[in-house]
Amino acid sequence: MLRTSSQRQIYQLLQATLDEISAQEIHQRLRLQGQQKGLATVYRALRGLQQKGLVYARPLVTREQGFGLCERATPHCICVQCGNSVRLADNPLDEFVRLLTQRADFLVYYHTLEFVGLCLSCQDDRAGDGGMEKGRMQSETGSKDTTLKAFGAPPTP
Ligand SMILES: [Zn+2]
Repeated sequence: MLRTSSQRQIYQLLQATLDEISAQEIHQRLRLQGQQKGLATVYRALRGLQQKGLVYARPLVTREQGFGLCERATPHCICVQCGNSVRLADNPLDEFVRLLTQRADFLVYYHTLEFVGLCLSCQDDRAGDGGMEKGRMQSETGSKDTTLKAFGAPPTP
């Protein structure tokens, strides 16, 4: 399935890595495994993997591109203050993507979905500064639970 050994090695590396990693990081990890590959080779292999729909890219807070396996492309909540990124267990767009594929004759390999704001700990910091955001957030959710498992199936019309 994977045409080059670089693609195979990078795919295996991403399989063993839970978070997205940059091309630089992939390059370094391959080197640690004794695989001497140029950065250009790593980028070329990543592009090949993206074209096969196996790997996705997403901008990281470091402004680098983070690469991961498409099967693990879950939505993220990203904190603008501390840079923390939390994966959501469910994807509210799954049904929409299925319809898009059916109606638009477009095969979706993956999509990225990001919610940007403040994590709970940074909301607490801001509340100490007299901010109003926290009180409003909490009264809306009614709890401090931030495990983000609350997204179930989308409400039926
Ligand atoms: Zn934060």
